[in-house]
Amino acid sequence: MRIALFDADRVGLVDAAGESVVDCTDLLPHHDPGLGANYWVRLCADLDRLREPLLARFATGPRTPLAAVRLRAPVLNPGKIIAAAANYADHIDEMRPHELADWLLAFDLFLKAPSSVVGPGAVVRLPDVPGEVHYECELGLVLARGGYDIPAESALDHILGWTVLLDITERGKGDRSRRKSYDGFTPVGPWLVTRDEAGDWTELAISLRRNGELAQQVKAGEMLVGVPEIIARASRVMTLQPGDVIATGAPAGVGQIEPGDRLDATIDGIGTLTVTVG
Ligand code: MN
Repeated sequence: MRIALFDADRVGLVDAAGESVVDCTDLLPHHDPGLGANYWVRLCADLDRLREPLLARFATGPRTPLAAVRLRAPVLNPGKIIAAAANYADHIDEMRPHELADWLLAFDLFLKAPSSVVGPGAVVRLPDVPGEVHYECELGLVLARGGYDIPAESALDHILGWTVLLDITERGKGDRSRRKSYDGFTPVGPWLVTRDEAGDWTELAISLRRNGELAQQVKAGEMLVGVPEIIARASRVMTLQPGDVIATGAPAGVGQIEPGDRLDATIDGIGTLTVTVG
C-alpha cells in the first residue's frame, strides 16, 4: 500500500503509478482531526487490522487524480524524529576536509524537531544564519510498532513503511539538533510505501537532483549501520512509539541550497519528493 495524507486531514491510498488517490478516510475508526494526531498514530499501529477494508476500498473506490489534491507529509506530529549521522563512508570522507571534531565523523543518533516537517511541494525558507544550508537526501521510515530494547533480528517487523526524507542542515558549529530543526528542514513524502510492498530495503536506490543535476546517488544497503541496527540502537536509548520517524543518514554529494533551487529526491519504488527553496 501507498498511504498518503492529503488536503485537510484526508487519508488515502495511491496507485502504483503514482497518478491517483482513493480516499479511505471514513474507514479509519479513530479519525478525528480535532484530537490532533491520535488517529494517525492509531492507523500506524492498527494498519494490519485495517488492511482488508482499505484494500477493498482501493479496488473499487473513486480515484482522484493526484494533480487535483494537495499532498501532505505522510507523517503527522510524530512523537520524535530520530536521525542517523555519519552513516555512509563516502559522506564521512567528503566531510573530513571540514576539520570537524572526530565525534562528528562517527555514527550517532540525534533528534530533529517534529515541527520541522513539511510535505511535498513545500517551499523551504532559508533562515538567517551565517553558515551554508545543505540538503541531505535520506531513506525515511515510519514505525508501526514501538518498543524498548528491540533486537535487531526482529526490528524490521516494527516498520510501517518507507518514505523519502530530506534532512536539511545548517552547516557550522553547534548542536546538530538545533542546526537541523528549523521550520521546514524536514521535508517528507510523497507518501508511505508499506514494507510488504517495497521489497528488500538494502536494494532501495536513493538519489537527489538539484535543479535537475544528479547530486546524490546510493543504494540503501551501503549504509554503515543498517536499518535493523539503527532501530535496535535507538530503542536502547528511548522507547519507540507508533508513528515515530527515523531518517537513516545521507550519502555523499550533500551541498548548499539557495533561493530558487528545486530539489527532487527520489527512492526508486517509493516515489519522488519535490520541494523548492524560498
Ligand atoms: Mn542527515
